[in-house]
Amino acid sequence: MSMTTLSLVVPCFNEQDNVRDFAESVQQELDPLSAWLEYEIVFINDGSRDATLETLKQLVHEAPCSITVVDFSRNFGKEAAIYAGLQNAKGDYIAFVDADLQQPIAVVRQMLEHLEADPECDAAAAYPQQRLEGAGISFLKRSFYRVINAMCEIPFHADASDFRVIRRPVAEAILAMPEYHRFSKGIFSWIGFNTWYCPYEVQARHAGQSSWSTRQLFHYAFDGIISFSTKPLKLATGLGGVISACSLVYMIVVVLQKLIWGNDVPGYPTLVVLILLMGGIQLVVLGIMGEYLARVHIETKHRPIYLQKARYSCRRGESAQQVEAPKGDRQA
Ligand code: UDP
Ligand code: MG
Repeated sequence: MSMTTLSLVVPCFNEQDNVRDFAESVQQELDPLSAWLEYEIVFINDGSRDATLETLKQLVHEAPCSITVVDFSRNFGKEAAIYAGLQNAKGDYIAFVDADLQQPIAVVRQMLEHLEADPECDAAAAYPQQRLEGAGISFLKRSFYRVINAMCEIPFHADASDFRVIRRPVAEAILAMPEYHRFSKGIFSWIGFNTWYCPYEVQARHAGQSSWSTRQLFHYAFDGIISFSTKPLKLATGLGGVISACSLVYMIVVVLQKLIWGNDVPGYPTLVVLILLMGGIQLVVLGIMGEYLARVHIETKHRPIYLQKARYSCRRGESAQQVEAPKGDRQA
């Protein structure tokens, strides 16, 4: 029987106290499957400012399992890290897992076994059964899914994040989307394929703290909507239409007033309100167009999604350490 291969893609940003325990947890869960499964861990050091890289290099040196470390030249964000991980993953299956042990490896195993058993299924995604965050953030996240589902043609599964196991063809499909502004929830929905959703019990963060502030979450949500919907642009047309219709009605009213009662009221307040209202609406619409233009501007530069400073790797048991020259993602 030929072996099944699995690559675990793990983005790391300031995870010095997690990566070692993460690797141990992977070994504990996946080593018992060694009769049919070979696995590798692809860590992406996303510009960590703590000792994450040193810890990862040490792991490569010890070679407890097959490990690849991609070291970024700076922090490019989790989405870029996922892309780099995909480029470096060699497995038939690829799993995306956070380094903070919030997502149990047992669930990765469960998703993998489901895919192995069901050839019709291309990807498995796990969503948290209950959220650990406060009521405020939970409410905002739910609202976000309502808005994005109303605005985009593609459906978004509420709560399903990038905690997934995918087959090789799905990985190739994601790699074929080289956009700079990456929104993985959108990309996963856009590419299609049969996805199996399963609930899991999200764990508390092992060490360190979440690197997302509420402001960043807002930015991320906004980015997601702009990346996968052009509805906000059409808003201008709709708004313009409604306002023109109202103006037309008001014009008739004014003309009739003049004809019937003569021009006794100057209507100064109405004028000021209308000018301010129109100015405000125009600025908002211009702003929305600016957001799209800014993205077009960035995309046309064709900048690499990430820059790699170095790459380290080992096979299980061999501590051979190799370092490769710096490269960007688009040089191949
Ligand atoms: N992460 C990353 N780059 C970043 C921010 C986060 O690679 O700029 C990684 C982080 O190390 C972790 C995963 O993305 O493995 C999820 O991050 P976090 O736990 O902060 O997010 P949360 O679980 O709160 O959504
Ligand atoms: Mg986390």
